[in-house]
Amino acid sequence: MKLLLWDIDGTLIRGHGRGLEAFKAAFQRVYELDLPLGSTAGKTDGLIVRELLHMWEEAAILERLEQFYAVYEGELHARFEHLQRETTILPGVKAALSQLQAHTIHSLLTGNMLRTARIKLDAVGLCTYFRWDWGAFGSDNHIRNELVPVAFQRAQAAGWQGTLADVVVIGDTPFDIGCAKIAGARSVAVASGQFSLEQLAEHQPDLLLNDLHEHAQLQAFLGVGDETHR
Ligand SMILES: [Mg+2]
Repeated sequence: MKLLLWDIDGTLIRGHGRGLEAFKAAFQRVYELDLPLGSTAGKTDGLIVRELLHMWEEAAILERLEQFYAVYEGELHARFEHLQRETTILPGVKAALSQLQAHTIHSLLTGNMLRTARIKLDAVGLCTYFRWDWGAFGSDNHIRNELVPVAFQRAQAAGWQGTLADVVVIGDTPFDIGCAKIAGARSVAVASGQFSLEQLAEHQPDLLLNDLHEHAQLQAFLGVGDETHR
């Protein structure tokens, strides 16, 4: 069975700024700086912090990083009702997750920390689709390119028999495509986030979709047939 590693923001869901608002509030409280966030798409939480503090020593960043993560989790949790009301599940996502469930294993590869990933997906009722213990998160490593091997090793340790060629990363940025390529996994790019089809095409994903409405193409790519697709 193939192991699908889903990105969250821009791939499964679109928030309406509450996540960034919580991130910024936590950053301000813990690092005592009010800085513009810039582009966060495809970046891990730990990388965003490091980029904001590029003039800081790594040791000084690390000193407060756990505290930052805890405060961020609290800030996000405090906005849970807003997240529930305002977060959109992207087109075709629910159908794709449901239809592929019998044929593949869904897990996650995201720059979010495990705990904030859970809050975001809990707000839209998507948590139950995923094997959380096989996923790789921003809390595992701030370098996204290191995350496929983390998920792969977790799956193998749990008895999954696949190879890296059976791992498929699904995401909305060149960083998602890149982390799959460097690890020897395959990549599916969806233009449902901040990057256009043309921009994603430049990075040569193995499959490129406008959005997950095109699940017949995804099923064909995964070789899982379309008997559940109508
Ligand atoms: Mg994303």
